[in-house]
Amino acid sequence: MAEGFLPYGRQTIEDDDVEAVVRALRSDFLTTGPEVARFESMVAEAVGAKWAVAVSNGTAALHTACFAAGVGEGDRVVVPAVTFLATANCARYLGAEPMFCDVDPDSGLMSARALERLLDERPKAILPVHLNGRAADLEAIGRLASDAGAVVIEDAAHALGAGGIGSGELAIFSFHPVKHVTCGEGGAITGNDPDLEDRARSFRNHMMERREDRLTNPSPGPWYYEASEVGFNYRLTDIQAALGCSQMGKLGRFVDRRRALAARYDEALRDIDGVEPVPAGSESAYHLYAVLIDFDRFGVTRAELMTGLRDDGIGTQVHYIPLPMQPYYAKRGWRYEDFPGARRYYERVLSLPLFPAMADDDVDRVVDSLSKRLEGPK
Ligand SMILES: *Cc1c(COP(=O)(O)O)cnc(C)c1O
Repeated sequence: MAEGFLPYGRQTIEDDDVEAVVRALRSDFLTTGPEVARFESMVAEAVGAKWAVAVSNGTAALHTACFAAGVGEGDRVVVPAVTFLATANCARYLGAEPMFCDVDPDSGLMSARALERLLDERPKAILPVHLNGRAADLEAIGRLASDAGAVVIEDAAHALGAGGIGSGELAIFSFHPVKHVTCGEGGAITGNDPDLEDRARSFRNHMMERREDRLTNPSPGPWYYEASEVGFNYRLTDIQAALGCSQMGKLGRFVDRRRALAARYDEALRDIDGVEPVPAGSESAYHLYAVLIDFDRFGVTRAELMTGLRDDGIGTQVHYIPLPMQPYYAKRGWRYEDFPGARRYYERVLSLPLFPAMADDDVDRVVDSLSKRLEGPK
């Protein structure tokens, strides 16, 4: 891969992945079939949860998890100020309001101290995000949540394969192509409580209920079903699940490769003062390789650097624009100035290319170009 354009992330699709999809296409089931069930078992096993429910994407998984947890009209849901839009939007889908929690300025993870200050508002749920693949402080967050009577829903879209995540009350995963393993589009909710599983499964399929002991009216015959609440069509197809199963078999290898590439970045970046890797800990699944750059010191803006790297064939991205800055949430009364941790993180962060098919040389090429673009003649 040493010559072509290096995107900040991309999928790794191999011949056996293609064959798995073709087999699904030739099978009896294109949706709601055995591949979906197999995919769910693989995801549950990988994260150490009792069950997994597969859905059409990670955003649908967030919506479903919040619904299963009982989030509804007028409830409050705590979301870190630095995350993807979907983590907060899922509260709005249910008529609830996200409350933004400031983050640690270096890791970008939800700050337990900032969370503590929000608990007087009695949130229904708390959604820590395992940003970049590193687990949030689930111990401290879990303790605060249980004192406040709130449910913890982990947004683990970055963290499949990381240590210490996904085995709690509720967690969600994404299988978008940029994530660790992909279904094309796909998502999953994991958990341990069978009642939550039941609600998640129903929500995915219009809340259609056929079990006689749960019907409101007597069943007139075998065609009969009832819906007592509004659900959605959030089903994953067997075509997607077949790809997901094939990819799940490679999760360990992909995460190992990401960690090896990250270690090489860490080592190479030691020589550049003013560029620090976002601290990741030893169990990160490295969805992203993010660095913090002291742009003032170099006299280069982030936009200039990104353009320069792009000219060298290197793609980078910023994860994420803090949500209180988004016009939609600003209109709802949030002020970016109230989140000094998010601001400090956002002003410095940049994601460098990282995906399993990258060669060691690619890392060296990125670091050389970064060093040249930061320190070169102006
Ligand atoms: C990718 C992602 C999502 C949404 O997943 P989709 O599958 O794209 O809907 C949610 N939260 C985070 C942190 C993500 O990175």
